[in-house]
Amino acid sequence: MLKIDIITIFPGMFDNITEFGVIKEAFKKNICRLNIYNLRDFTTYKQGQVDDRPYGGGPGMVLMPEPIDRAIGFIKRRSRIKNKEKQKVVLLSPGGESLNQNKLKYMSGLENIIIICGRYEGIDERVIESMADLEISIGDYVLSGGEIPSMVLIDGIIRLLPGVVGKAESLKSESFEKNLLDYPQYTRPPVFKGMTVPKILLSGNHKDIEKWRKEKSVEITRKRRPDLFDKDS
Ligand code: SAM
Repeated sequence: MLKIDIITIFPGMFDNITEFGVIKEAFKKNICRLNIYNLRDFTTYKQGQVDDRPYGGGPGMVLMPEPIDRAIGFIKRRSRIKNKEKQKVVLLSPGGESLNQNKLKYMSGLENIIIICGRYEGIDERVIESMADLEISIGDYVLSGGEIPSMVLIDGIIRLLPGVVGKAESLKSESFEKNLLDYPQYTRPPVFKGMTVPKILLSGNHKDIEKWRKEKSVEITRKRRPDLFDKDS
């Protein structure tokens, strides 16, 4: 079972996350467990303070290292993970390594992921240096906090866990498998607003359909994401 622990100043944002779709299935089947921790519960400062002004000046506030350190310590002590290699602390940050399908696959093989959601101007650098095993960005843009990026991360990880997505083959034929984008999909009706479904898909000839899909995948990837052809795996 994968255990996911999230440290945030807005725990309420995660209220409904386990109530829909394949993620709901994962929790129902006990394939995954999610714990949300309020960072403010781990501060010793007055009125739940967890942030302060940046040294050196500048706008905004920075999350202090001590409450994060305590939260991580608390979670690790409770976790009882024997193989420490299977427990990782992930910090979400626009400056981190770009998230991709391979990283999701790697993380889906862990036993415990502790996710730190940043806010304000970000997090004290000493957290990054001493506590984070992975620093992950979900894209080259800046959001107001790490909560939505962490939902992106856990959604992508949980659907890869064995037993979550009904048919394992549906994962194998998806975008970014073999560094290709997905082929076009069609369903009923056969004619929609004058647009028809490619004849081959109605032919019942599975070998030809497979060939057509492969060609379409390559064609779409070449057009939209030629950079994927240069990737190693
Ligand atoms: N000052 C930071 C910078 O320029 O890199 C931006 C801080 S952002 C307003 C606040 C928090 O949102 C970050 O600490 C991080 O946790 C989260 N965040 C924002 N954009 C993100 C992204 N693209 N990927 C991952 N996390 C992000």
